[in-house]
Amino acid sequence: MEKQIKSGLLYIVATPIGNLEDITLRAIRVLKEVDLIAAEDTRHTLKLLNHLQISKPLISYHRHNEDIKSDILIQKLKDGKNIALVSDAGTPGICDPGEEIIKKCIELDINVVPIPGACAMINSLICSGISTKEFTFLGFLPLNKKLRNNKLEEIEKSNKTIIVYEAPHKLETTLKDLKGILNGTRRIVLAREITKIHEEFIREDIDYLIENLEKIKGEIVLIIEGNDKEENENVLNNLDIEEHYRFYQSQGFEKKEIIKKIAKDRNVNKNEIYKKFI
Ligand code: SAM
Repeated sequence: MEKQIKSGLLYIVATPIGNLEDITLRAIRVLKEVDLIAAEDTRHTLKLLNHLQISKPLISYHRHNEDIKSDILIQKLKDGKNIALVSDAGTPGICDPGEEIIKKCIELDINVVPIPGACAMINSLICSGISTKEFTFLGFLPLNKKLRNNKLEEIEKSNKTIIVYEAPHKLETTLKDLKGILNGTRRIVLAREITKIHEEFIREDIDYLIENLEKIKGEIVLIIEGNDKEENENVLNNLDIEEHYRFYQSQGFEKKEIIKKIAKDRNVNKNEIYKKFI
């Protein structure tokens, strides 16, 4: 009778997003025990493995070879090999390769085992000070104009916290796009270089971020407060008109803009508000 080989396991192993200490004991053990490590960039992962004093065969698995490499890896899993999948940083599958092979394994009844650890979005969110109760992770905003506008509209309407990844060279465009849709009442937190030497959480308004772009370097996550329009309206409408004015003034808006905003919040004609401030 032919011997039935039991499939190996595919471990999805989270690695550090900066600080090399951010890897679990279990992740280290799994990396030591597997037969093979599939890595987004083998040179990058080799540095981590050298640091951990682990020597293991590596195979590249990245966005441009996901399809063909998943088939090769699946054959090895079917042959009984255990494989660890890692990305350059953080949790594989989160804006990183992984989804493809995971789906195929599930279809083929090959066990997929998560090995939890660092993830930029979760760690930015928890220290942002913005509500963690309900949130939407949008990854990187699309570059295609139509798709991007759809996402911006989603952000504008969402009453949940929104998390966005951004590359530093695209930050200016993204902040300007966001300025156009966030009415001055929604908070935004910029988390950068988390777990690294220059880790910083900037809890200022969007104009400050735009004015200080040249100082904002490194890897970036944006956390945007949900649009609790009704609650905001209630708060603003309970202010007297001078307080309402000062609220927007403190956000850096010009007189003309403030008058427009107050009129909109209070659902009155802007000339009525204008008369009060001349
Ligand atoms: N798989 C990763 C994770 O689990 O977060 C995300 C990989 S994605 C290709 C890279 C993006 O994640 C960066 O452009 C940045 O938005 C975010 N990111 C990764 N590391 C970060 C860090 N140390 N600080 C801030 N953002 C980070």
